Amino acid sequence: MSVLNAISSKEAIELEYKYGAHNYHPLPVVLQRGEGVFVWDVEGKKYYDFLSAYSSVNQGHCHPKIVNAMIEQAQKLTLTSRAFHNDQLGAYEEFITSYFGYDKVLPMNTGAEAVETALKISRRWGYEVKGIPENKGKIIVCENNFHGRTTTIISFSNDPVARKNFGPYTEGFIKIPYDDVDALEDILKTHDDIAGFLVEPMQGEAGVYVPAEDYLIKTKALCAQYNVLFIADEVQTGIARTGRLLASCGNCSCPQKDCSESPDVKPDVLILGKALSGGVYPVSAVLANNSIMDVITPGSHGSTFGGNPIAAAVAVAALEVIKDDELTENADRLGKLFRAQLNQYIATSSIVKLVRGKGLLNAIVINDTEDSDTACNICLKLRDNGLLAKPTHGNIIRFAPPLVMTEDQLLECVGIIVQTLKSFEV
Ligand SMILES: *Cc1c(COP(=O)(O)O)cnc(C)c1O
Repeated sequence: MSVLNAISSKEAIELEYKYGAHNYHPLPVVLQRGEGVFVWDVEGKKYYDFLSAYSSVNQGHCHPKIVNAMIEQAQKLTLTSRAFHNDQLGAYEEFITSYFGYDKVLPMNTGAEAVETALKISRRWGYEVKGIPENKGKIIVCENNFHGRTTTIISFSNDPVARKNFGPYTEGFIKIPYDDVDALEDILKTHDDIAGFLVEPMQGEAGVYVPAEDYLIKTKALCAQYNVLFIADEVQTGIARTGRLLASCGNCSCPQKDCSESPDVKPDVLILGKALSGGVYPVSAVLANNSIMDVITPGSHGSTFGGNPIAAAVAVAALEVIKDDELTENADRLGKLFRAQLNQYIATSSIVKLVRGKGLLNAIVINDTEDSDTACNICLKLRDNGLLAKPTHGNIIRFAPPLVMTEDQLLECVGIIVQTLKSFEV
């Protein structure tokens, strides 16, 4: 038996603190096992997971179909690098491109890598197709964005904690307010060196901000008008989380839940990660049509692990589970129920200002100053009561359970959340 099998929560936390870099501030709970919507700590206590590894575990913890796909592939072939072909990649590429309605995919591993890839593709397209003079191309981004942690990506973040003392920063980004169509139009009107507009269909890390209903349709139309790529970062919002297959189609009025074919809302460049593997393995992807993706030529971009056979097998299974288990529909239905239930409580609550979100990506705003630790204390109490959630920026708590939840489970969770919040009322 390994020494790691018999560890207490306290010991595990102390080891991480002593031997691991302090780049996170985890809630004090040490998890050992997960199944569906539940996780268990090393002392055997069971919790509802209301974070889902930042919306990676949409399909539920340890989904048997996805885990089996990984095990079976791991016993055959794990990594070839792209120096050689493997028998899984092509079939996966055909599967994912038809699933989302694009000509081609570029496989990577983490979300940040996929964002970097999208930026590189878009800049190249700007020079080689649009005709922007070399090294002059700009990408428009939004304030309070979260796109990952690389040096280039933090260059256009405005989170001081993520940026401080990591400069010098990468040039070529113009920041505009989120959910502001006019701000985008102003830049597009006055610049002819813009390659792309990078946007989150809903801002997840910033605190689950849902833009105006027509924001994505209007910004997409502006991008088309000015010959600028509309680049959607759906790493957190994509793959059924918001009650649509992609959140970028979540704001249109059409009843379809998968409008990947509608040009009104379809991103020119689509970035996926997190739930693309159901949380079992790092898999990310950038999708685009040939007129864009063909700027990528042999040697111009790559990744040793990107497109490896395990990733390919796992991603196919993870995407199949989304449709087999009808998770888009479930997220839509349970999300509406969740917000309705919480709104009933909030109507008379002194501790919660509001609930917002789409599908099962929601957040509550705590009625206290931004720098108070009330949201943190509520999350500790939620943990004691058997439900795991984490504050995002300011006094906001995100609620994002796995999408395999049942209605009864959701109602039980609403009970835990409301009871916990009530204990903080003054
Ligand atoms: C999590 C996230 C990323 C970064 O993904 P990593 O896998 O952590 O690199 C990028 N964009 C968005 C919107 C995210 O939520």
